[in-house]
Amino acid sequence: MALETNLNCYWWQAAPPQAAPVAPWQDKTDIAIIGGGFTGLSAALTLARAGRNVVVLEKGLIGEGASTRNGGITSGNIRLSADQLKRRFGAERAQAFFDEAVAARADLDRFISDEKIDCDYKPCGRLVGLTGQFSADKITRDNDAFEARYGIRPRFIEKGELSDYSGSAGYDGGIFRPDIGGIHPAKLLHEMARLALAAGARIFSETPVLSIKRQTTTFTLATDKGVVIADHVISATNAYTDKAQPWLKRRLVPVISEMIATEKLGANQVQALMPKLSMFGESKQLGYYYRPSPDGERILLGGRRMHKDSGQAKQRLHDGLSAIFPELKDAKIEAHWPGFVAFPFDQLPKLAVHDGIIYPAGFCGSGTVWARWLGQKAAMMILGKESETVFANLAMNTLPLYTGDPWFLPLAMTYYRLRDRFSVSTK
Ligand SMILES: Cc1cc2nc3c(=O)[nH]c(=O)nc-3n(C[C@H](O)[C@H](O)[C@H](O)COP(=O)(O)OP(=O)(O)OC[C@H]3O[C@@H](n4cnc5c(N)ncnc54)[C@H](O)[C@@H]3O)c2cc1C
Repeated sequence: MALETNLNCYWWQAAPPQAAPVAPWQDKTDIAIIGGGFTGLSAALTLARAGRNVVVLEKGLIGEGASTRNGGITSGNIRLSADQLKRRFGAERAQAFFDEAVAARADLDRFISDEKIDCDYKPCGRLVGLTGQFSADKITRDNDAFEARYGIRPRFIEKGELSDYSGSAGYDGGIFRPDIGGIHPAKLLHEMARLALAAGARIFSETPVLSIKRQTTTFTLATDKGVVIADHVISATNAYTDKAQPWLKRRLVPVISEMIATEKLGANQVQALMPKLSMFGESKQLGYYYRPSPDGERILLGGRRMHKDSGQAKQRLHDGLSAIFPELKDAKIEAHWPGFVAFPFDQLPKLAVHDGIIYPAGFCGSGTVWARWLGQKAAMMILGKESETVFANLAMNTLPLYTGDPWFLPLAMTYYRLRDRFSVSTK
């Protein structure tokens, strides 16, 4: 998966990818972490603060992967519905996924506040726009149960009330979750790198890991700068996993998610379209996610890529934006950038261990919360601390003959598009 430093990414204007400060090479360490995104830096910070010797090996510059390209929406989504999870795991374990989502989001919130991280964090809420058929009664029952368990009140918004939340006429109702917010993802990532370095982690950028070999009690990681021998390895490469890790590559489906940012529309227009300056999603399988820029002057929107050609892909996002807000049909699009997200075949994030290597991975496009959380859990596993998570001990399967090249994606996209056209919305 190629990384591109000259990407026209809106977030990189304020917080561009950077080389890590030059440090003497370290050929022995307690823990080697491959990848310097939210997952790797979260693990590095936890381990370094516990006094462990940590080396982070990042293929590109710091902040070149998905962690600085995303929508910054602290969704912590789980793609499977409560009913799907219940069928697969039983009611109690199904509930544990949602318990952990609430805990992980609150942990991010606490982290940003305790560490005084300047990443434009706003706990502004998120509206999911509903289309098609849905049961208001079921949504209200689910909201009541959510409030009873977590003390957080999601609201069902009827069509007549929607204008308090959105200037779009395109939805038949909505669900507003007050506990979801927005961050500037690139600012958060660079702050995490700063904290990890301050805690004593050594970060080497532009240092791809070329191979990993397991000896009896250690691992040898080869890079073009030299070899690192480590007692433990955490693989934090997620959607950018390359041929150095064939086991993981066979178990993740990399999918392009991409975003656009409008020109400055002015605070008045943005506020008129997004009265609560909140985050937004849609109930469709292939719906858009969108939000105001942190300064409230622009709108950023993202979705899955449907076209090979970048110009057509950008136009599709602009068309999507205009369908939501027709007033933006002629707005200029000043930035357009893609990135990769990773899906395991069962669409559940994982904290897997294989052949001694720890793999927090497969965040299904919701890594702003999950990547940091499971990076931390991976570190705690090594520290022998409370690392319990519902995402451990899940089988991480592959398909026969799959090597990491998802030739079947166009078919899957067509399937989801058809499902969106004919689906019944219950979320
Ligand atoms: C356009 C877009 C929008 C998104 N929007 C949202 C959102 O609004 N909310 C949300 O929750 N999530 C969102 N996501 C998902 C989220 O960004 C990711 O789940 C999360 O950033 C994953 O973090 P990570 O640290 O695991 O991976 P990354 O940040 O991708 O880091 C992996 C790193 O591994 C490195 N690497 C790969 N191979 C090697 C190697 N051999 N040696 C050394 N290093 C290597 C890569 O260079 C990369 O820097 C979005 C993603 C994209 C692309």
